Amino acid sequence: MKAVRRFTVRASVPEPLAGLSRLATNLRWTWHPQTRDLFASMDGELAQRVGGDPLRILTELSPARLEELAADPDFLGRAHAAVDDLEKYLREPRWYQRRAQELAPGGGPAGDSRGGSSYRAPRCVAYFSMEFGVTEALPNYSGGLGVLAADHLKAASDLGVPLIGVGLLYRSGYFRQTLSTDGWQVEHYPVIDPNGLPLELLTGPDGETVHVGVAMPGERELRAQIWVAQVGRVPLLLLDSDVDSNDSDLREVTDRLYGGDSEHRIRQEILAGIGGVRAVRRYCELAGHPDPEVFHTNEGHAGFLGLERAHELITGSGLSFAEAVPAVRAGTVFTTHTPVPAGIDRFPLEQIQRYFGDGKLVPGIDVDQIVRLGEERNPGMFNMAHMGLRLAQRANGVSALHGRVSRSMFTGLWPGFPVEEIPISSVTNGVHGPTWLAREMSALLGDDEDGSPRSLEEVSDRNLWDLRCSLRRRLVDEVRRRIRESWLQRGASALELGWTDQVFDPEVLTVGFARRVPTYKRLTLMLRNPERLRERLLDDRRPIQVVVAGKSHPADEGGKALIQQVARFADDPAVRHRIVFLPDYDMSLARYLYWGCDLWLNNPTRPLEACGTSGMKSALNGGLNLSIKDGWWDESYDGSNGWAIPTADGVTDPLRRDDLEAAALYDLLGQRIAPLFYERDTEGVPTGWMSMVRHTLATLAPRVQASRMVTEYVEQYYFPAATAVAAATADEFAGARSLAAYRSRIHAAWDRVRVLETEIGSDPPAELVVGAPVHIAARVELAGLAPDEVDVQAVLGTVDDNDDLHEVVTTSMSHAGDGRFTATVPLPHAGSLGYAVRVLPYHELLASQAELGKVVAS
Ligand SMILES: *Cc1c(COP(=O)(O)O)cnc(C)c1O
Repeated sequence: MKAVRRFTVRASVPEPLAGLSRLATNLRWTWHPQTRDLFASMDGELAQRVGGDPLRILTELSPARLEELAADPDFLGRAHAAVDDLEKYLREPRWYQRRAQELAPGGGPAGDSRGGSSYRAPRCVAYFSMEFGVTEALPNYSGGLGVLAADHLKAASDLGVPLIGVGLLYRSGYFRQTLSTDGWQVEHYPVIDPNGLPLELLTGPDGETVHVGVAMPGERELRAQIWVAQVGRVPLLLLDSDVDSNDSDLREVTDRLYGGDSEHRIRQEILAGIGGVRAVRRYCELAGHPDPEVFHTNEGHAGFLGLERAHELITGSGLSFAEAVPAVRAGTVFTTHTPVPAGIDRFPLEQIQRYFGDGKLVPGIDVDQIVRLGEERNPGMFNMAHMGLRLAQRANGVSALHGRVSRSMFTGLWPGFPVEEIPISSVTNGVHGPTWLAREMSALLGDDEDGSPRSLEEVSDRNLWDLRCSLRRRLVDEVRRRIRESWLQRGASALELGWTDQVFDPEVLTVGFARRVPTYKRLTLMLRNPERLRERLLDDRRPIQVVVAGKSHPADEGGKALIQQVARFADDPAVRHRIVFLPDYDMSLARYLYWGCDLWLNNPTRPLEACGTSGMKSALNGGLNLSIKDGWWDESYDGSNGWAIPTADGVTDPLRRDDLEAAALYDLLGQRIAPLFYERDTEGVPTGWMSMVRHTLATLAPRVQASRMVTEYVEQYYFPAATAVAAATADEFAGARSLAAYRSRIHAAWDRVRVLETEIGSDPPAELVVGAPVHIAARVELAGLAPDEVDVQAVLGTVDDNDDLHEVVTTSMSHAGDGRFTATVPLPHAGSLGYAVRVLPYHELLASQAELGKVVAS
């Protein structure tokens, strides 16, 4: 018989153990080993079975054992200590509180000493993402984007950054993967019961469930309840449409992550963005929490949040749409993760018309105004990234290279500006050390919570190597267990599986390759020349062993074919002891791989990997990277912290490019990497290898931390954004109104603004040597704008054959009356120079000179 409905009953915990519920429902346990130990000590076998999840341990523990523990003074002592430690962690001032103090010398939690360049520390930042991979116990993610979002929350918690996470709760999260007999990916969607997860429903003062609603076409409403997960100090709000009051099709809006068609997706994105803002408002009101000043959107999916905030200002504060936009922009940070136009989220215009056309979803905003925000080259499509950029005053890519790629990808939004001036910068992703670092490694290195290592010199090569070997051995055990399980699942009988005990060798150089399986990541590059791979696997003196894992999007048949290719190669009895495909890549499998692999392989097609984070997690644990110089590795490879696979940039035939890059991969493995790994001193320690591991731990590990990433977001984005919000909203939104009025003056006048004449000369006429001052003068038609409403700039640089300027030096010119502007500039370079004069809008609330996308040049 099938159950009509599934529900979970929480254990009633004896009073002396009440604190355990608090420990079990705060996800800090996912990065706090002492808390996990405490729960594991309650019932080791049970802990093993439920993956160490404290809430399940508490729920499934026998009442007798609970009573026994409630009377055990030693256990009670440890439990109290753990609860006290959590309380202290949640309350004590941390880095952010110290920074906020520094910004506000007068004291107080937030800096309101404005004027000059002083920054304001926001009292709250809302962080929106479609997925959050906090732990496998809360399977609400598909891959890198979600894990990154959760690492952002965890690091923010450690640093004391007052963040609130916002996303959706999916009934079946992402799928679980198994293989069919012939190696084809099979998807399963286990249904989760939120009542059994470390989540709490948001309720009102009378205990009633809080709902938020968003209008749907045809007079319908999509409603959602709000689950709150506690990620250390950071609340994470997850909207869930599976409520009785919804029509049945609307209940399914949050059924799956990335599972549906465009209709399903736009509903999810409307709920996440617009419903998400409404949920944060309700949460803050009920919890007495300060409202967010800054909204950070992790990729464009939640971009509708900007419309909801504009709607709030229009209906709540009487602003016009044009006045609301600068106020919204000031407080929005948009992070793009997509280096290819094909990867960008877009909707047919018809759909936008249908959802927003009746004016019910975000009252006060005309659908034509919305459509203009998402305009792109194709007049029939609405582009979420374009809307994201138009509604965010600050935007960034996720590695230095990806920043450059994004600037050239989006130049069209800032016509007339050279690519280096496109206002998209970058913050390289990071990973949460306490989550991803093997416990033994952090014990050896003495890592504290902020991830700053103790002096590595105190650790001998021998100790470090022994630890690396024990982590590899643990991975080998896990590989054997999982490969056996996978074969049983694929229909083999236990009797035929004796060979699985011999899979992998704890002494052999172990290579990991695990990630989602979109084409650009080239899962099968290593199979380009199967014979050469076999040689490396079966080399009798210096073999390698390779563990591969990854999920393909359910609709991506091409990706599944790649998985099958690897799985079938690995099924061959001749190599199956040296290469495996492990199904169901998730955080729990990932950990073993990051801990145990000696070498982490990444071979995307450059520059399609925006950042990549798995290699960072490996590096934290002393793994060496072997990677194409793409994403983070492009800026991180230094010649002795791993290896760069040379890229065949410029080779346009993709097959030939694969051939060349695969050949380079085999060469590196056979000629450089394996020899170094197997070169041992008299005690069996590979000293050359270990010196690279040390170098990686000393120089790379601190830089790949999410704490470094979050610190950069705080200093370079959240502080300036909060400052801009204060400037835009003070005095009844005087700043936003002034900027809106300015913008409309600029729009009206700009076509007539001209550089009429320019002149260059030195005084007295002198030799042109580097550093000699030259005078530049220009006469400008200001078309009715005041001289201080524009920035007239002299631009000097080298010229190429087409008279294009390079290596430019830009100087603002002073107004000398009557539309004349002058500047004196030292000659910046030797050689062939040229100059130009350009006019840009100027308003003190603009964050970059390209912001309005207006420029007139001589
Ligand atoms: C880190 C991680 C990823 C992302 O890895 P990339 O290198 O960015 O592809 C994906 N899935 C899991 C489970 C991870 O832990």
